[in-house]
Amino acid sequence: MMSIATDDVYLNGDYLPLSQAKISVLDRGFLFGDGVYEVIPAYAGRLFRLEQHLSRLDRSLDAILMQNPLSHDEWERALNRLLQNNQDQDYAVYLQITRGAAQGRDHSFPPDLKPTTFAMAYPASQPDAELIARGGSAITLPDIRWHLCHIKAITLLGNVLLRQQAFADGAVEAILIRDGYAYEGSTSNIFVVRDGRLTTPPDSDLLLPGVTRDLVIELAEANNLSLILAPITERELSMADEIWLTSSTKEVLPITRLNDEPVGAGVHGPVWQRIQDLFRHYKEQLRAGQVA
Ligand code: PMP
Repeated sequence: MMSIATDDVYLNGDYLPLSQAKISVLDRGFLFGDGVYEVIPAYAGRLFRLEQHLSRLDRSLDAILMQNPLSHDEWERALNRLLQNNQDQDYAVYLQITRGAAQGRDHSFPPDLKPTTFAMAYPASQPDAELIARGGSAITLPDIRWHLCHIKAITLLGNVLLRQQAFADGAVEAILIRDGYAYEGSTSNIFVVRDGRLTTPPDSDLLLPGVTRDLVIELAEANNLSLILAPITERELSMADEIWLTSSTKEVLPITRLNDEPVGAGVHGPVWQRIQDLFRHYKEQLRAGQVA
């Protein structure tokens, strides 16, 4: 469970203690879930792939007809200020922008609303080493979400219910199936390995283009691993030698049981081990300030 350890949070240009950060109950984020967000890990105070996260934020805002209230430089300054006393361990930064508060409650919105801009930093625990060693279990569930999953919207009720069902089943994640294809997890992207070849679904409206996923793709390509961007059928998922989930908080998590059956040999596989080593190396370089 995350707890906010920083003195201050960022709200609409001010830095103030969490207890003093207040917004209107008419905020459309509160009333309609009308807003977008990002979660950005910070390793030893260095933000992980900041530019990629901020570009995705711009794309999410564009898709909901909003403009970014801050430039990328302003975001960088604001987020680094939240992290300035928090470099002793790994943190994550959460930021969200909502359409702001209107006079009343109407689904349609007036053009001139002032967005509500919020960010906070909190300690991020490293992915559980034992879980990584053992691998997690996942279940498949029908994707009950809407059709604009490429937007990182704060409207997360579908994801919340799916993830909760996975937890209730003792699984770490639900892998979501739509029309016979696996697109992503409820809070993560998916990769499968079959006969040494890595596959992840291509970008589409039906999945979030994960920043962690994009780094894994980059690392695989730079290191001559066999990788294709292609749809994954439910059957291909069930026949995979390896399944992994990626996200800012999970990093690259091997899934060794799917729907109570072992995945491949039921232990994490050699392709995962290779990517895990490359990913760890990247993180160490980031901590040392050698990569952005
Ligand atoms: N898909 C969904 C639905 C997610 O919620 C997330 C993480 N929030 C991801 C994929 C992974 O994205 P990232 O690697 O940028 O954390």
